[in-house]
Amino acid sequence: MRIATRTWLAAAAAAASLAVSPARAAELPNVVVLATGGTIAGAASSDVQAAYTSGQVGVDQLLAAVPQAKKLARLSGEQISNIGSQDMNDEVWLKLARRINELVAKADVDGIVITHGTDTIEETGYFLNLVVKSKKPVVLTAAMRPSTALSADGPLNFFNAVAVAANKDAAGRGVLVVVNDWIHGASSLTKASTTAVQTFLSPLRGLVGTVAYGECEFYRGPVGKNTLESEFSLDGVTSLPRVDIVMAHANMDGAMIDAAAAAGAKGIVVAGVGNGNMTKAGLDALAAQAKKGIVCVRSSRVVTGRVGRNVEVDDDKLGLLASDDLNPQKARVLLRLALLKPRSLADIQRLLVEY
Ligand code: ASP
Repeated sequence: MRIATRTWLAAAAAAASLAVSPARAAELPNVVVLATGGTIAGAASSDVQAAYTSGQVGVDQLLAAVPQAKKLARLSGEQISNIGSQDMNDEVWLKLARRINELVAKADVDGIVITHGTDTIEETGYFLNLVVKSKKPVVLTAAMRPSTALSADGPLNFFNAVAVAANKDAAGRGVLVVVNDWIHGASSLTKASTTAVQTFLSPLRGLVGTVAYGECEFYRGPVGKNTLESEFSLDGVTSLPRVDIVMAHANMDGAMIDAAAAAGAKGIVVAGVGNGNMTKAGLDALAAQAKKGIVCVRSSRVVTGRVGRNVEVDDDKLGLLASDDLNPQKARVLLRLALLKPRSLADIQRLLVEY
């Protein structure tokens, strides 16, 4: 691809002028970059076109494209996958989480950066927030514009992510996501625009901090249990239980809820209207599945706000759970981990509130 080749050549030329002396490099923190794909590794055949393909550029090219990051940390890269994050799957999740846990256990690894697509970064980030066993900085980053685009956002996002991963003050704040100068908690961010560079918001819990050209400012610690305090573990886990999300809407019937159960879901999350509400038909279908032992959680399709127990729906009577401030996609991640072992409904409700 012509544009792509030009971009990487320019980066290589810049690298020569940004060399760090070996003595100085030896003092820098050690950050490992795990690449999974996404638009940050995407390429188009023109720098001003909307159409592009995610996951085209390998981790070595990503590192070469931002030589400035070598001033912040000693970097090494590994390719975990190279996919658009719309294709993110359990196999990659398990591989990624295992590799992170191996790396953070090493004394000579100070932080991790994961490059990822924006579409499902909140799910992967939240999953890692629950299963990584370390306080060391684990930072995801992404881009809305492919690497070949005019004004690509990936290079600065990557630079800032390395700065956060290399920063001792980032430790102990849970898994973080760095995009567009903002440091989000993986438990709080959500994608709010299909195309805007400023797509990520942390509506309820707020930002963990900001980062401008590598200068970090931290505002808060983690909200919700995470990493070392998390009771979830992937030890011995080779697959995760199926949990489906069903979206509520006007005139909803119970067909999609029943279909999820028929497909083998062990849990169902309803992206309800408003405060986790749904039609009477939807509620009847959900309560019927709950009675059969499927764990049913009411979340909301609304972008911000909590879903509380027993507000307009009698959860106690119907055997349902409320997602608290977890959106449907995050409630689904939590439920999949929760269902790795038998638990009471009360215990799963506790998890929804505590994490
Ligand atoms: N579809 C892309 C992905 O999630 C979008 C992006 O990265 O911005 O991989």
